[in-house]
Amino acid sequence: MSFKKITIAGGGVLGSQIAFQTAYSGFDVVIYSLPGEEKEIKNKLNTLKKTYLNEIKVMSKSKDFKTWSRGIAGKDTFNEKKCTEKVNNAIKKIKITDDLEKAVKDADLVVEAVIENVDLKREFYKKMAPFLKESTVIVTNSSTILPSKLAKSTGRANKFLSMHFANAIWKNNISEIMMHPKTEKKYFKQIIKFAEEINMIPLPVLKEKSGYLLNSMLVPFLFAGLDLYVNGISDPESIDKAWKLGTGAPNGPFEILDVVGLKTAYNIVLMYVKVPSIIAPYNFKGMEKLLKQYIDKGKIGKSVGEGFYKYK
Ligand code: NAD
Repeated sequence: MSFKKITIAGGGVLGSQIAFQTAYSGFDVVIYSLPGEEKEIKNKLNTLKKTYLNEIKVMSKSKDFKTWSRGIAGKDTFNEKKCTEKVNNAIKKIKITDDLEKAVKDADLVVEAVIENVDLKREFYKKMAPFLKESTVIVTNSSTILPSKLAKSTGRANKFLSMHFANAIWKNNISEIMMHPKTEKKYFKQIIKFAEEINMIPLPVLKEKSGYLLNSMLVPFLFAGLDLYVNGISDPESIDKAWKLGTGAPNGPFEILDVVGLKTAYNIVLMYVKVPSIIAPYNFKGMEKLLKQYIDKGKIGKSVGEGFYKYK
């Protein structure tokens, strides 16, 4: 194994998923949480356990590899008994603590999944630094902050890089692994190996890129779809059909927006409203207005049963 002891900093949506998947893969895991969070994290871990067991049941009935949860099944084999055993052992391998020194002093790897705020993350790295072993490697799961913006505060820029997971890690098992200019290549390779060990598909990102690989493609694609709608060129259903029937892709931009959530889309659009149109040639003001109308009506996406489409 590339590392033995793994600490996950943050027990939120992604922190608890990374912790569960890592423990499921046989590692000892410590979650560093805020005081008072333990009960909530335990609930999340128990929900994940149920989800994994349910996925295993579904996979045991399906012969179609494409529909498998590859984070659970592994690359190309699926052994129902072994996977079930691993799920049942996972929670026992996870400790939760709000004592930072205890949480990180033995860690070989710290996966930082605290809230998406640059100052807060910097503060956290500075607080953690005195407790770490010399050899500890740190990765950030940040979706939007470039690692070079955080590297200095870790006090070990050469052993710091990004490891970006996708939500629903057991199914969407990609991990975008990105260096910043001061990351040493050997740690990049070590993290790629670790990603494989926890059943992720590592995607190397050799240069810093905001949005990594997936969002560098997905965000402009969603903008293009929204732009067609707000400019009155066509309607969501037809735009989705054009994409799906024309390319064979399973989902169009509006179906994807409903899954991502309209509030997230709205927050991204807000970042572009003031960007000059020569740089970002889309009708962002129109998108802002449109998304706000949906959000004000409570139609925020698939999670609540309605977004651009109705689900039920
Ligand atoms: P979240 O809000 O669910 O959880 C954040 C956790 O951060 C909290 O549970 C807490 O344990 C910790 N925390 C909060 N304040 C802290 C502080 N002052 N010091 C130390 N820890 C503190 O957030 P999340 O959705 O799990 O996101 C965490 C990270 O993962 C972010 O960087 C985000 O960009 C990234 N990410 C999120 C998703 C997603 O779909 N939610 C996907 C990929 C990456």
